[in-house]
Amino acid sequence: MSKVPEIFGSMVFNDQKMQERLPKSTYKALKKTIQDGEPLDLSVANVVATAMKDWAIEMGCTHYTHWFQPMTGVTAEKHDSFIQPNGDGVIMEFSGKELIKGEPDASSFPSGGIRATFEARGYTTWDPTSPAFVRDGSLYIPTAFCSYTGEVLDKKTPLLRSMEKISSEAVRILHLLGKTDVTRVITTVGPEQEYFLIDKDLYEQREDLKLTGRTLFGAKAPKGQELDDHYFGAIKTRVAAYMKDLDDELWKLGILAKTKHNEVAPSQHELAPIFTTSNIANDHNELTMEIMKKIAEKHGLVCLLHEKPFAGVNGSGKHNNWSLSTNTGENLLSPGKHPENNLVFQLFLAAVVKAVDEYQDLLRATVASAGNDHRLGAHEAPPAIISMYLGDDLGAMVDSIINGEEYVSHGKERMQTGVDVLADFKKDTSDRNRTSPFAFTGNKFEFRALGSALNIGCPNYMLNTMVAEELSQFYVELKDEENIEKAVKSLVKNVLTEHQRIIFNGDNYTDEWVEEAKRRGLLNLKSLPEAFSRFMDRKNVELFVKNKIVTEAEYRARYEIELETYCKQINIEALTMIDMAKKKITPAVTAFVREMTDAALAKKALSADIPTSVEEELVMSLSNRLVCFVKKTAELEEAVMGASEHKADCLEYAMYFREVVFAKMQELRAVGDSMETETASDFWPYPSYYDLLFGV
Ligand code: ADP
Ligand code: MG
Repeated sequence: MSKVPEIFGSMVFNDQKMQERLPKSTYKALKKTIQDGEPLDLSVANVVATAMKDWAIEMGCTHYTHWFQPMTGVTAEKHDSFIQPNGDGVIMEFSGKELIKGEPDASSFPSGGIRATFEARGYTTWDPTSPAFVRDGSLYIPTAFCSYTGEVLDKKTPLLRSMEKISSEAVRILHLLGKTDVTRVITTVGPEQEYFLIDKDLYEQREDLKLTGRTLFGAKAPKGQELDDHYFGAIKTRVAAYMKDLDDELWKLGILAKTKHNEVAPSQHELAPIFTTSNIANDHNELTMEIMKKIAEKHGLVCLLHEKPFAGVNGSGKHNNWSLSTNTGENLLSPGKHPENNLVFQLFLAAVVKAVDEYQDLLRATVASAGNDHRLGAHEAPPAIISMYLGDDLGAMVDSIINGEEYVSHGKERMQTGVDVLADFKKDTSDRNRTSPFAFTGNKFEFRALGSALNIGCPNYMLNTMVAEELSQFYVELKDEENIEKAVKSLVKNVLTEHQRIIFNGDNYTDEWVEEAKRRGLLNLKSLPEAFSRFMDRKNVELFVKNKIVTEAEYRARYEIELETYCKQINIEALTMIDMAKKKITPAVTAFVREMTDAALAKKALSADIPTSVEEELVMSLSNRLVCFVKKTAELEEAVMGASEHKADCLEYAMYFREVVFAKMQELRAVGDSMETETASDFWPYPSYYDLLFGV
């Protein structure tokens, strides 16, 4: 087996390969574009394209593809071969123009009504800040995606813009504070990815998993996660083999896969990479999710990335660890030994506190999805109420600033293990709080409310933009101040005082917090339609328009796409349930009832003395439930049919799906699951939760 440092990045046209394969001047010009965002010359692109193609062909490629992230939530690719006719034969060509610009048909990607289908043209443009790579015989070129008329149609462009915006705002502020050597600030992200692995043969037998990614019926197994024996438990051989293959594949693509472990629910696992620049972290997370699914197939497994594949056990999330660092290597969210004297830290902390408070509705909306609705507030993931955890130390510092009191940090304490052979070590100043949606964890914030399947582009561009906006307001307030130190202190005090309601260091899972949050005026937007009801509020639209991240039309398009996707997903789930109910579950229960009836009749024929009460009770109970089940199926069908009346307004349409269709689905499921518990497994048409969750 090859050594990790040798395979790492072997499939990537990374910096080292560019240095080796590009003429010095080309390399320098490209670096300038990557690092300082300078426009790229076509002549440079031509040279880069040729070098990329030569390398790709050596790696066995015949095609290239512009790889992009449209609003579907999954990545898109269209492959073109390098062939060019030449006499009777062909040569392999790839020009700078082809590298820079692609023209996929844009009409079949969601655009939220900003364009008609006859305006089919769309462009993909090379994003040189994310390296090209090779997969399955194609050269993949990360790109941004827009329409012919220039509307942004993807998740990447706003992210790139927001990174530039927060960088320029942060640099301005840092210069005011005397850090004039800083020329760029980058946002860093480390997304922890949760997933389920189940057996492929079982998966194939469940149309709900295949069509919707989650089980729509399924009675609880006798055992779930109550013994806490899966979390960090020993990894099973088959899963370990999968994880090893996955790591290898990710490393080849230059992805910094670092941590792997079993998660809380049976069959649930997690992978965390080492953090990197948000843009690359975003591309890498998309790739990680795709490769997770692909490698699973090789092992006879299926990787489920849905937020809630199984009722009754935890679903999957994605923790978005986020921070800011300067080109001089300083983490701006690192409090240092004495945060009470660290004005840079305090100012950036204040910016984040203000941003999270003022835009809590946006942060809530950005993690909303049909799948994530099952998790948020279900005591397994953070609640739908957005708040921030700072921990005891930082919390005490913030209190002292607000109250104008002296504060001296304890710094890190030594942890005494009390065992001679174990080394003592320094304790972190903040404990973990797994219940908080937005937790400070030492030198970064961890936004924990993301669903496992989410593209992290949106939460990150929103977070970047809102913090950039606060920094820009701070700059205006500070720029003419003579005594900058005094001005910063007073600004920090005012901001923290005004926004302290968003800070909550307690247990987010309690009912008391729900009450307390209400008293504080914090929002509790429980489902996607509720979360999106504030999306188009003026302050939110203006945030993105003013900071030139997206236009108002593009922003509205995003709103419409999210709501529409939600409706479509619930609709598919409802139709799948109806199909399962009618074609499989009802006939199966009928067959079992008949078997029991036949058994009772046969016994009776044999002798009137043989008891048949068991069969009769079962027949009675299941027949009654079946009547109810068929009725609930019809009600759900009716609910689905009624949806079209609400189509005119996308928010109302989504509300209808949540309040009427989804509610009916829950009712139908409850009856279905109760029948499963009484039906012999030989008759039940689907693999059970026991099979699925304990089958690997
Ligand atoms: P935990 O399970 O305690 O949350 P992990 O070690 O699994 O912690 O994940 C922490 C994640 O945070 C990793 O992806 C790590 O690379 C990332 N991280 C650490 N420092 C930073 C930072 N400055 N910016 C962004 N992400 C960071
Ligand atoms: Mg975490």
